Amino acid sequence: MEASKTVKNYFTTQLLDWHENDNDRSLPWKSESDPYKIWLSEIILQQTRALQGLPYYTRFTETYPTIGNLASAPDEEVFRIWQGLGYYNRCKNMLATARYIANELGGIFPNNYDGIVALKGIGPYTAAAIASFAFGLPHAVVDGNVYRVLSRYFGIDTPIDTTEGKNTFATLAQVLLPEGQSQGYNQAIMDLGATVCAPRNPHCHQCPLQKYCLGFKQGLTGLLPVKSKKLVVTTRYFHYIVLKWNNHLWLQKRTERDIWENLHEPFLIEHSSTLDRQALLTNQQFIDCGFPAKSIEFAGKGTQRLTHRIIQSTFFTVDFQEKPDCTMRDGAWIPVSELKNLAFPKTVLSFLRNNLYF
Ligand code: SF4
Repeated sequence: MEASKTVKNYFTTQLLDWHENDNDRSLPWKSESDPYKIWLSEIILQQTRALQGLPYYTRFTETYPTIGNLASAPDEEVFRIWQGLGYYNRCKNMLATARYIANELGGIFPNNYDGIVALKGIGPYTAAAIASFAFGLPHAVVDGNVYRVLSRYFGIDTPIDTTEGKNTFATLAQVLLPEGQSQGYNQAIMDLGATVCAPRNPHCHQCPLQKYCLGFKQGLTGLLPVKSKKLVVTTRYFHYIVLKWNNHLWLQKRTERDIWENLHEPFLIEHSSTLDRQALLTNQQFIDCGFPAKSIEFAGKGTQRLTHRIIQSTFFTVDFQEKPDCTMRDGAWIPVSELKNLAFPKTVLSFLRNNLYF
């Protein structure tokens, strides 16, 4: 059923009033007007919670105060600062965009929606956020928080992961946007979703929208928003052979279009299930490498959860007296003292740190 004008007006008015008087969510990028820093915060916050992203935002803005500083930084250094945030494609696109703006646009960030959305790594949500927060342009943001607030308040059960759902919510969000107040409104709805209309156990009794909220009135908050597809999570089994020789570790850079692109890791054997030491020794990939079987030691396990994957890692170590032949793979012997300059997947980093490599 189409929501009445009163219900819509109430929504916008209450939201802005709450933002003005009761929204105490304080984050450094909220007071920013520099499009570079707003863009940086939005890229960091894609798929990342604000509190987790905060130290990264601080580190990036301190290390690279301008887009020119970021554009001229070496890849390795930027990936190392990004280390732990995951979704490394974001970092790759961020660097490409910084270099494009610095080299092709004279260091000036585009000041209109079409120019912003054309940049690498920027979708409609991020473009709307930058356009409104940096330039006050009338573009409504629609992220997970907005889907949740709108679907509950207006009682909309159209799945948010369908084209129809995306169009419905994007249109509604745009209709609700008050003239000349896109910054405050966008910030308000995202903050309300993050703090009051939480995914589980929303604080409806403290919510400024409760009076007309259909989700609350009909007891549907736990069912909204609706998604049509269930997330399928699969497990991958990595076996890392940490090759050691003369205070060096052999490491390879992940270059495939796969998880952890551009990060470093030890010699990897992936298998369809976990291999213990005995099973590893009879694995054909391992045999083909010609490493001395008797010096392989089991060294630990690690689990890393990604959105669609669980990575179960098993670590083995081999200590070589003589430099072994590893030319069957692209990789290099890195002095242990230089490990701190490289970026690693979280699970590998934990292993290296726990084993006091750095
Ligand atoms: S009343 Fe409850 S469900 Fe409705 S918008 Fe507020 S917090 Fe969300």
